[in-house]
Amino acid sequence: MIGILALQGAFEEHEKMLRALGCQTVLIRKKSDIPPCLTGLVLVGGESTTQRKLLRELDLLDILKERIESGVPVLATCAGLILLAKEISGGEQTCFDFLPVRVCRNAYGRQLGSFSAVGDIGSIKNFPMRFIRAPYIECTLADDEDTEVLNITGGRITAVRYKNILAMSFHPELTEDTRIHNLFVDMTKNIR
Ligand code: GLN
Repeated sequence: MIGILALQGAFEEHEKMLRALGCQTVLIRKKSDIPPCLTGLVLVGGESTTQRKLLRELDLLDILKERIESGVPVLATCAGLILLAKEISGGEQTCFDFLPVRVCRNAYGRQLGSFSAVGDIGSIKNFPMRFIRAPYIECTLADDEDTEVLNITGGRITAVRYKNILAMSFHPELTEDTRIHNLFVDMTKNIR
């Protein structure tokens, strides 16, 4: 059962895509929504500050952090990437504090806030990337050789894989291309 954090943001699109791929999904809005047999977790795009506040208020932060640390595969897009990062440029408060990268929020400025590009995401060739007020990854943090950079666009890191995490600053759920979700689904099948 794949859980999709559904406090705010683009959760419906992920749900639709994963269901089309034959996955069982559950929207997570409160503690009791989290199934014991959680095989994957999606952290969706939206507004990371709002999501972080709600995670704390609803007492979901620690329980989800535990699952992430225990190796449950995570697909994180845009705001989800910010929630996972160990560092946020400007010293802003972190949330799950797990992914060894420094992210820069709203990094492309106002005019370039939303744009599209096509690029390779690791071995996935020519993937259509949609950026919406996107962050980028300023750097991966030192002495963590487990972080694999999957894409660089315009000189900026936009996608990484780290242990059980697949994280990107763009929105694969807003395209018709299911290859990133397929990769994530494969990760959820290989865990146990
Ligand atoms: N700008 C948002 C934030 O900082 C992220 C944008 C998105 O998820 N599309 O949280």
